[in-house]
Amino acid sequence: MSAQPRARQALAASSDFLVLGSGIAGLVFALKAAAHGKVTVLTKRAAEESNTRYAQGGIASVAHARDSFAAHVRDTLVAGAGLCKQQVVEAVVADGPARIQDLVGWGVRFTHRAEPGKRHEFDLTQEGGHTARRVLHASDFTGQEVSRALLKKARAHANIRIIEQAMAVDLILHRGACVGAYALDTASGSITTYMARATLLATGGSGKVYLYTCNPDVATGDGVAMAWRAGAQVANLEFFQFHPTTLYHPKAKSFLISEALRGEGARLLDKRGRRFMVGVHPMAELAPRDIVSRAIDHVMKEQGDEHVLLDISHQDPAWVKARFPGITRTLKGYGIDLTREPIPVVPAAHYQCGGVVTSLDGRTSLPGLYAAGECGHTGLMGANRLASNSLLEALVIAGRAAADAVASHRALPHGLKTPAWDSGRATDSNDAVVVTNNWDEIRRTMWNYVGIVRSDKRLERASRRLAMLKREIHQYYWDFKLTGDLVELRNIATVAGLIVSSARRRRESRGLHYNLDCLKTDDRRWRHDTVLQRRPWEMK
Ligand SMILES: Cc1cc2nc3c(=O)[nH]c(=O)nc-3n(C[C@H](O)[C@H](O)[C@H](O)COP(=O)(O)OP(=O)(O)OC[C@H]3O[C@@H](n4cnc5c(N)ncnc54)[C@H](O)[C@@H]3O)c2cc1C
Repeated sequence: MSAQPRARQALAASSDFLVLGSGIAGLVFALKAAAHGKVTVLTKRAAEESNTRYAQGGIASVAHARDSFAAHVRDTLVAGAGLCKQQVVEAVVADGPARIQDLVGWGVRFTHRAEPGKRHEFDLTQEGGHTARRVLHASDFTGQEVSRALLKKARAHANIRIIEQAMAVDLILHRGACVGAYALDTASGSITTYMARATLLATGGSGKVYLYTCNPDVATGDGVAMAWRAGAQVANLEFFQFHPTTLYHPKAKSFLISEALRGEGARLLDKRGRRFMVGVHPMAELAPRDIVSRAIDHVMKEQGDEHVLLDISHQDPAWVKARFPGITRTLKGYGIDLTREPIPVVPAAHYQCGGVVTSLDGRTSLPGLYAAGECGHTGLMGANRLASNSLLEALVIAGRAAADAVASHRALPHGLKTPAWDSGRATDSNDAVVVTNNWDEIRRTMWNYVGIVRSDKRLERASRRLAMLKREIHQYYWDFKLTGDLVELRNIATVAGLIVSSARRRRESRGLHYNLDCLKTDDRRWRHDTVLQRRPWEMK
């Protein structure tokens, strides 16, 4: 049994399936599994809060006769820079159209194009790295629409119970298998034990590890940290995607300007008005994101500017407003009219390509534990994510994981009793400033030393600082009663440490990992995943 006994609490009723997270991965799993048993969904804030909700661009899936699975597979492999698992890519791409129909059946309203005399079909947009228009979207708030429809369906389902403000703290193990999780009620501070025959990690990404990110506050890598502490394998955490274009504005908390704008002709300019992507890559502004982010980073450092510009003002204003209503409205709130002037933008941490290692069916290396969505690692993304493949992966893998969990007929061991959480001698902290300071220092360290452009020296410096911070946080964690902030701080420290360890291991540059001290891609030695697993003596 994993030992975390720190506060005696009543055992919550167990369910068949326990889902941690209420983004697309968690809700798809819940809706599929609910046909076969009781599902409990724990989510650490309001159920609506997730990366899913903020996705603007859309979901990549082959949906037109002029496109093909082969082309989608090829584009994914090219972006993945030699690390994608081809059979995973082929399976996910092939499953796409059927899973999109699931979403439609659950009430997701994608944007359609209506041309006189023609059948209604999905309006497809194009994004960086795609050689065809294949991104389905719901205007420019696709994630919000997906989240709305799935939550409505899940809330109405008799077999699904969604518990908000319930933050999973650690997984519960019995004889090497996962049998549930401990969760903190962030409102009351109490800990509850949730048991299930199958547990799904659907906790999303870890953008909050970096100072600048377009991820919401919930993205603190909890799933990766919990899985690692429990002894599951994690992989490829050195590959973190930075979105090239988030709004640069003193009052904006990292508002993302969708790649779809560049898909519709927006140009990147330096502050002097020069279009700098032409000559950097044949696809110019639609080059893969790592190339665009590095080019922006280079221009900003070379010219000493705090941002570059994204300009779509040459397009028809009425069309721009109709195509991007959400972005138009938000920018207007900051006094920017995108139909008349360029938008100031900077790169920000966006997507975690690595995660908890899983099979195509979402199985992790621990029996009873599944992972899907951004916290999982199937091998679809390789060393870089092709735009809009992440919602697709979450959708497909969560569906497969549910089918696998249902079919496995695993049962909780008969008469199994887990110890309730015991807070021992932990007291209330009167020094919350320690949490805020450490949180800030980790994020700054990661941004400065483990960001878009890395070097051996920067990584070593980050490693030393994080080791020190981790020791301090560990001590604090065991001395004081748990709060949501403390749980998240411990998790971002763990994930930051794993990103640095993975980045130091990879002695080459590939995809999103760019190290000035080893610029070449070395296929002979490094064309493989960076897999990490906790050794028994490593700090939990
Ligand atoms: C601004 C933005 C734009 C994007 N645009 C696109 C796009 O156009 N196309 C695309 O394919 N992808 C896009 N992405 C990426 C995509 O949205 C995510 O990869 C995807 O939504 C992840 O889904 P998920 O279900 O894995 O996680 P999430 O949607 O992040 O859900 C995670 C859930 O887990 C909960 N949680 C976390 N930790 C715990 C815990 N300890 N206990 C309980 N609950 C917990 C969270 O509160 C949340 O409910 C975008 C991301 C962002 C941030």
